[in-house]
Amino acid sequence: MPGATPDSTSKNNPPATLRSKVIELHGVSTKRAKLFARLGVHTLGDLIRHLPLRYTFEHSEGAIGDLPMNAVGSARGTVVRTRWVAQGRRPRFQATVQDHSDTLSVTWFNARYLRDKLHPGMTVRLQGKTTAYQGYPQMVNPTFEVLTDSAETEAKEERFRPVYPATEDLPSGVIERVIADALPTILPLIRDPLPDDLVSRLNMPTLCDAFRWVHQPEHEEQAAAARRRLSYNELFLLQLGIALKRLYNERHLKAPALRHSEAIDEHICARFPFDLTDAQRRVVNEIASDLQRTQPMNRLVQGDVGSGKTVVALYALLMAVSNRKQGALMAPTELLAEQHFTSITSMLEGSNVRIELLTGALTGAARESLLSRVEVGEVDIVVGTQALLTETVQFNELAVVVVDEQHRFGVMQRAAFRQRGSKETEPENAGNVDDSAGDTPKAERGGKQLSPHYLVMTATPIPRTLSLTIFGDLDVSTIDRLPPGRTPITTRVVGQDKSDEVYKYLAKRVELGEQAYVVVPIIDADDSTSARTLKSVREHAKMLEENYLPERKVSAIHGRLKRPTRERIMYNFREGRVDVLVATTVIEVGVDVPNATVMVVEHAERFGLASLHQLRGRIGRGTHASKPLCVFIAEPNTEDATQRMAAIGSTTDGFKIAEHDLQIRGMGDFFGTRQHGLPPLRVARIPDDMELLQQARRDADQLAHADPTLTNESHTLLKTVLMQHYGETLTLIDVG
Ligand code: ADP
Ligand code: MG
Repeated sequence: MPGATPDSTSKNNPPATLRSKVIELHGVSTKRAKLFARLGVHTLGDLIRHLPLRYTFEHSEGAIGDLPMNAVGSARGTVVRTRWVAQGRRPRFQATVQDHSDTLSVTWFNARYLRDKLHPGMTVRLQGKTTAYQGYPQMVNPTFEVLTDSAETEAKEERFRPVYPATEDLPSGVIERVIADALPTILPLIRDPLPDDLVSRLNMPTLCDAFRWVHQPEHEEQAAAARRRLSYNELFLLQLGIALKRLYNERHLKAPALRHSEAIDEHICARFPFDLTDAQRRVVNEIASDLQRTQPMNRLVQGDVGSGKTVVALYALLMAVSNRKQGALMAPTELLAEQHFTSITSMLEGSNVRIELLTGALTGAARESLLSRVEVGEVDIVVGTQALLTETVQFNELAVVVVDEQHRFGVMQRAAFRQRGSKETEPENAGNVDDSAGDTPKAERGGKQLSPHYLVMTATPIPRTLSLTIFGDLDVSTIDRLPPGRTPITTRVVGQDKSDEVYKYLAKRVELGEQAYVVVPIIDADDSTSARTLKSVREHAKMLEENYLPERKVSAIHGRLKRPTRERIMYNFREGRVDVLVATTVIEVGVDVPNATVMVVEHAERFGLASLHQLRGRIGRGTHASKPLCVFIAEPNTEDATQRMAAIGSTTDGFKIAEHDLQIRGMGDFFGTRQHGLPPLRVARIPDDMELLQQARRDADQLAHADPTLTNESHTLLKTVLMQHYGETLTLIDVG
């Protein structure tokens, strides 16, 4: 686009603020403002935070004859001819530019105004991509600059230029110019939320310089220094939010201290049909010691698929029960809640523990009766989805909450539970574990709010680097070994062309009496294409039955089926009455079918790494003689997909897969905003910025301890910015 020289900074409007709309800027029309909006840029604040993805070197100026083909280059020459072509599909302004070496034809579409700007005889500097048009070099819509005194204008040097996230209609170059024009307006508006004494210790550029340099660096080091400063600010804010939250919880929340003893331990373990592995034992001990405190437990248990998290969860729940308090187990889906309920119920058979399942299917009088029994404490353990348990249930004395969220997160938010006495205060227990006889007298002194202990389970291990950032307020336990007797799974990634071979082999394994899953993608349950996908589950099942498994029973299962139907199908599969189950990802979290040893995933490139890993975990759950085999049929057509396929094919270690996932997707959407609910980090790159993160964490902790309510005058702006950014997602309490 033309006009390399900014002529004015902003229109004559009231003084700009960071909240002023970009349309107030000179050079931003209504149309352009809309294009900016599509990039999430509405205000001047958004604009200055629209950071370059990277930088390029601008090519130094050369002769027209030396312009590289199909690449961006720069040259100067004399305008020898101009023409406005109004007719045709796209009106255009055309110019012919010449130097000693060659002639270049230049076209600007819809650029009627150039008629008044470019005339034969002028010297111009052009920058753009050169292509061949009917054998002659041409540039379309290049940027240009009219050189008034060409003799004095030196040939352009190589320059460091920002490359912005852009769209076709709003290319990086335009954004660059708008930002360059706006910087003099915006930079003076920037105030650093960080307190001065902290900033002076940082040995980094000021925030204002950082913003200038990130957009207009003179060299690479400046860009790097700018980015470092912006990353620091971002990480510091997040860490401060986490630190304040943790301090608040420590000071204001109080959980019932649960008794624990060898007898209790034996009693609980007697319920399990196997001995705990060393890894499970270690984690159980960590949990038991947390539960004995009045400080609410906030622990994340990470363990790979099949590592045996269920009994660990049950252990915590039973500690609540043995203290005559209640426990709740929350699953991400109703199906998983049902499965937990089934497996836990069978372990508790013959005990007097009262466990109930609450699902959406439970209605009417039965539901009312369950709710009132929970409320008066006649139910010990309730299993259900998070939404159901937090919204509809009032507990009598809820002591332990287990969130089995698999790879879906949301751990920062402690769900608000309704429970009797939760608003009342309890006396300070001074952490004396043997003191309470179970029933602590309520409302004496102190002023803490009752909270249950929290245990979050995840099958997607969180890379250590991340547990500090997002999960900074959680203690982490890891079940790092699988229970004994598992045969390792063999994984193959193959192309579509191999599918015939794959299904023939699958049929052979089925003939030997083994069972198999075939997974078909469902892009999104709410997606309009899902109807088609669901149909293809059935079609695929039919195809397999007709072509490969004529003598065998093939069933289809997906999330749209009614619960009893789904249950019946799963039951039949587990009982061996169904040989091959064609499914969507509903089986990602599912019941154990030890005889299922083969899995084929169609269109594996469409699944995320976590899902693929989770799916694969469905097989190899028994001590079957034959080797479990997982085949991913994939046609990866993006770089990401190729990397995902390579990662899933190369390891079955969930921790390694999580690290891969982080690398491929980057911190920004590793968990996806929807999953963890936090605004994604925009500048900081984890794990690259790990050291900076540690520093931010130390600084934030220090500040939080010194001023836990941010009431200090020098922290006013900090507090405002923090509440804006993280107030909601971290449910920070604005005590000011
Ligand atoms: P996760 O929820 O971590 O994926 P589960 O709790 O469902 O794993 O356990 C996976 C399987 O391992 C289950 O069949 C369970 O019975 C079995 N299991 C768990 N712990 C042990 C153990 N200590 N010894 C033997 N089998 C175990
Ligand atoms: Mg589980």
